[in-house]
Amino acid sequence: MIGLKTRLALTYALITCLAVAILSFTSHIFSDRLFSSYLKQGIEAQNKEIAASISDQYMPSLSHFNIASVQALGMSYLHEGFIITVKDQTGATIWDARSCDMEKCENILHEIESNMKHDATAKHKLVSKTFAMNNSGMQVGDVVIETLGPIFYTNNEAAFIASLNKLLITLGISSAVLSVGISIFLASRLSKPILQAAATAEKIAEGKWDVRMAEEQNTTELHTLAQSINGLAATLEAGEKWQKRLTSDVAHELRTPLTVLQGNFEAMIDGVIQPTPAQIASCHEEVLRMRKLVDDLKQLSMIEQATIKLSKKEFDLQELLQNVFNNFQQKATSKGISLQYKGMPTLIYADPDRLTQVFVNLVFNAIKFTDSGSVSAEIIEQSESYCIRIKDTGMGIADEEQAQIFERFYRSDKSRSRDTGGAGIGLAIARSIVEAHQGQIQVESKLGQGSCFTITLPKQRPE
Ligand code: ADP
Repeated sequence: MIGLKTRLALTYALITCLAVAILSFTSHIFSDRLFSSYLKQGIEAQNKEIAASISDQYMPSLSHFNIASVQALGMSYLHEGFIITVKDQTGATIWDARSCDMEKCENILHEIESNMKHDATAKHKLVSKTFAMNNSGMQVGDVVIETLGPIFYTNNEAAFIASLNKLLITLGISSAVLSVGISIFLASRLSKPILQAAATAEKIAEGKWDVRMAEEQNTTELHTLAQSINGLAATLEAGEKWQKRLTSDVAHELRTPLTVLQGNFEAMIDGVIQPTPAQIASCHEEVLRMRKLVDDLKQLSMIEQATIKLSKKEFDLQELLQNVFNNFQQKATSKGISLQYKGMPTLIYADPDRLTQVFVNLVFNAIKFTDSGSVSAEIIEQSESYCIRIKDTGMGIADEEQAQIFERFYRSDKSRSRDTGGAGIGLAIARSIVEAHQGQIQVESKLGQGSCFTITLPKQRPE
C-alpha cells in the first residue's frame, strides 16, 4: 500500500508538472504565433521598400535603370533573404540575382532553410511576388521578389528564437524540479499531523490512554482531528479510572460488613456465640446494609454512565417537598429538631421520583447531622431557574471537605465516628440526578453553625 506522504507528494508533483507543461506549451505556441505574425508584417513592409528603392534607380532622363545601383541594392537584399528580379516596361529582365551570383543565392537560400528547420510544422517553399514600379507617375517596370515562405528567419531572428526556446525549456525544467521539491515539503508537512494522529490512535488502541497529540495545528480540520483524538483519549482514560476506582471503592465498602458477617458466623459455628434471633437479626442488618450499598451503586453507575432515562412530567415541586418533610416529621421531632418549610405552588417539568430521592437524601442528612435546632427548606423562583435551599443548624462541614462531599464514597471522619451508617454515596447520586436535569448542586457551610445545600434547576418546558 502506498503511504500518505508519497501519495500527496506524487499528486502535488503531478499537478504542478502538468501546470508547468501546459504553461510552457501554450507560451511557446503563443510566442511562435506572435513572432510569425511580426515577421510576416516585416516581410511585407520590406517587399514594399524593395520595390520603392529599386524604382528610385530609374533615370527618367535616360529612360533606363542605373544597373550598378540596382545590382548593389539587389545584392544587399539578397543577403537579407530576398532574391529579386528587375524587369523593364517591356517585361525584359534587366537584372536578376540568380544570374548575377547563382552560388550566393543557393547558399543564402540554404542558410535560411536551415534556420527554419526547427519549424517542422510549416511547409517552406519559395514564394514569388511581383510589384509594379512607378517613377514620376508612370510605371517603369516590375520587380519580382522571391523569398522562402510563408515566413523566414534571418540568422539573428533564428538565434533569438533558439534562445527564447532554450529559456522556456530551462524555465520549464527548473520549475518542475522546484515544484517536485516543494511538493515533497508540503506533503510531509501535511501528512505529519495525520501520521501523528494515526500513531496516537494506535497507542490509544493499545491501552495507552495518557498519550495526547499537539493541538496547535494551523489547519482547522487537523486542529479538530487533534482535539477529537485527545477528547477520545481523555474519555477513555476517565472511563478506565472510573472503573478502577469503582472496583477498589466497592471492594473497600463491602469488606467491613463481610468481615462482621464472617466473624459472627465463625463465632456461631465455633459455638462462641449462640445463633439467637437477636444475633441473626444483627447479621440480617449487615446483609441489608450491603444490599442497600449494591442498589445505590447500581443506581449511581446507571446515572453516571447516563444509561438511566428520566421520566419527566409536570408536577408541583412544593407539594413534593412538603411530602418529604412530612415523612421526616416524626424523626425530626424525636431529635428535637423543628422542620420549617417556605414556598408556593411551583409547577416544574422534571422527574419527580428522582428529585424525591435527592430531597430525601438532603433532608435525611440535615436531620442526621443536626443535634438540635432546625431544618428548613424554601423554593425561590428566578428568571431562568428554580432554586431550592435546604438548610440546617447542624454541625456543618469543614471548608476543605465541602468540595469532596459530592464524591462517591466520601464520608467525613465525624460521620464515620458517629457511625451514621451511610456509605457516602447519597450526595454523589444527588449530584448525578441534578446534573441529569441540567441543574447544579452546591453547598455553603460553617463548622458548628450548619449547612445550606442549594439546588438550581432550569425551567424546562414539556417536550
Ligand atoms: P452518607 O450516606 O455517608 O451521609 P452522603 O453522600 O449523603 O453520604 O454525604 C457525604 C458526607 O457529607 C457525609 O458523610 C457527611 O460527612 C457530609 N454531609 C452531608 N450532608 C451534611 C450535612 N447536612 N451536615 C454536615 N455534613 C454533611
